[in-house]
This record gives sequence, C-alpha cells and structure tokens, in this order.
Amino acid sequence: MTDMNLIVGSHDIVMITLDTLRYDAAVLEEANCPNLCGDGPWEKRHTPGSFTYAAHHAFFGGFLPTPATTDKENHIRLFHSRNTGLKTHPHTWLFDTPDMVSGLQAEGYRTICVGGVIFFTKKVALAKVLPGYFQESYWRMTFGVTNPRSTEHQVNHTLKLLERADPEERLFLFLNVSAIHGPNHYFVPGARKDSVDSQRAALRYVDGQLGRLFEALRARKRPAFCLAFSDHGTAYGEDGYEGHRLAHEVVWNVPYREFLL
Ligand SMILES: [Zn+2]
Repeated sequence: MTDMNLIVGSHDIVMITLDTLRYDAAVLEEANCPNLCGDGPWEKRHTPGSFTYAAHHAFFGGFLPTPATTDKENHIRLFHSRNTGLKTHPHTWLFDTPDMVSGLQAEGYRTICVGGVIFFTKKVALAKVLPGYFQESYWRMTFGVTNPRSTEHQVNHTLKLLERADPEERLFLFLNVSAIHGPNHYFVPGARKDSVDSQRAALRYVDGQLGRLFEALRARKRPAFCLAFSDHGTAYGEDGYEGHRLAHEVVWNVPYREFLL
C-alpha cells in the first residue's frame, strides 16, 4: 500500500494519462511494454469519467480510477481534499486547495503539464481549462493526435524541461499521451480503420518512447513516484457503439499502475 504522506515532499510525482487506452488492449500488450509493465501487470480499474474532460477534472480533484472490485473498504485513496467530513486513511495525502495540482504547488512542487489531445491544446478557451490547473503548460501541434510521432515529440520536450530543471526542485509532471487516441490506424501498416489491434500497436510505440523519459527521471536526485493509467477506453463497434463519452464497459474499464522510478 502506497503511503502518499511518505511520497509527497520527498519524491517527484509523475502522472501519465494514456489517453483512450482500453484495459483489454493494455493487458494483451503487457509483455511488450517493458517500461510501463517492467515490474508488474496492469490493474483493472473503473474511470470516473467517460471522456477526457470529465475524467481529468476528477483526477485533478484527487479522484483517480477505482479498483474494479466490489470491495470498496480496502481501497486507500492516494489524494483527498482535507476536511470533507469523510473518514480518510492515514496513508492518504490530504490537500487544502481545490485540487491536488494546486495542493502539490502549495507543498512547493513545480507543476508542469505536457498536453496531448484536443482538451490540452490551449487553442480555445475550453482547451485552456485543464492546462490551467498547472503553473506551466505546453502543447505543440506535433504533440497532437494526428502526428504519428507525437510521443517522441512530447518526450523530447519533457527531456529539455528536465535538463533545465533545478535538481533540488520537486516536480509534479503530468503528461497526456495522445498517440493511443484515434486516429491510431497508422500504427499498423496498411490499416485504414482504428481497432484494438492498431491501439495495441500505438501502445507498443508509446512504451518504446517512455523509456527515455523514465531514464531521465531516474537520473534526477529524487526518486519519482509514477502513476500511469488511462482516462477512459473506447468502443470499436461493441454492441453497436463507436468511440467514448458513452457508458459501456470498454469505456469504463481502464488499466492502472503505480510504480517507483
Ligand atoms: Zn481522453
């Protein structure tokens, strides 16, 4: 059980949302994802939101995906707002601010957002809301869903930030990976439609790129506590459904992992 009160203050904290990654696709690729799954398998969880905007508001509010079991008693939340009147576990880190991002900032963390999908582009007012949780936020055209090398560009940008970062400072680094979100058919040569197979290929690509990021984080002075999970899945025709922002188990079930770097 992670004691977040031993993590916050002493560790860098890294949150990676693998946007749109389905739980079943993630499990099928465990053996091919040495960076994300090097020390263990994905956990099956339920997301609090069926699409990016809803899910990330919940995450930043401290509501991460919950275990996909009926045993609610034994789930210890990592983050929780203080003084809500609800009973909290001693291992839960409590924040006094409206959200855990500004809560970490209040603890002395530098908060950085590297955006991916459309809700992080900052191009229109709505797409400034989620990046607006952070002190610093970055988005480039090359980080978006249409670029077949988006993760490479996102990681390169993040590595530059890490190179320039003061080794003493504590970082809360958030990365929204866009590559697994549609369109992802171009990860399978010749494919014309997105599918579980093309999503799996996108995930293998993403894992390959994350290795450089994890290496750079390991080289920092502080250990890093890393959370990697999906914000929602997506339907590829199951029961007639296509896409997400709808209630189907392929959307609600998400892969989740936490590990130390
Ligand atoms: Zn999303």
